[in-house]
Amino acid sequence: MAEAQVAATAGEVPVGAVIVAAGRIIARSHNLTELLTDVTAHAEIQAITAASNYLGNKYLQKCTLYVTLEPCPMCAGALFWSQMGHVVYGASDDKRGYQKHGGPMHPKTKITSGVWQRNVPNYSLISSQANETKPRHDSQHNGHHCSRRTSSLDRFNRSVLWSK
Ligand SMILES: [Zn+2]
Repeated sequence: MAEAQVAATAGEVPVGAVIVAAGRIIARSHNLTELLTDVTAHAEIQAITAASNYLGNKYLQKCTLYVTLEPCPMCAGALFWSQMGHVVYGASDDKRGYQKHGGPMHPKTKITSGVWQRNVPNYSLISSQANETKPRHDSQHNGHHCSRRTSSLDRFNRSVLWSK
């Protein structure tokens, strides 16, 4: 939710995502389509890239993606390829959600929807984990993860520059 707010402040469609592995947040992102002038820069895609970089593994079967809005068909496709273990989303998206368009979600991916209404304790758990994990993570890894994330963002930015 905090990531969605960052996106809203930046004039983006406010969608935020985090990926959790072994009880720790390993990736956090928000929608960057306006900043990168890239319709594929959805929060889920950024989070998958960051989590795969962090883990050094393209498959994310042991991870859980939390996202504020139902993924679109493109993101469902990316989640399919990542073999995401569990997808938890907040609001349904009747217009652009993957379900309306019959988007592919991996058959082994567990799906939980409507968590904001039904399962508020889970949400506050995520928030407190986020607050606890961040300083611990920064001190232990000393920006290692951040530099990787920056480099992947730089890659995006460079490709944007090249295309202009
Ligand atoms: Zn999407």
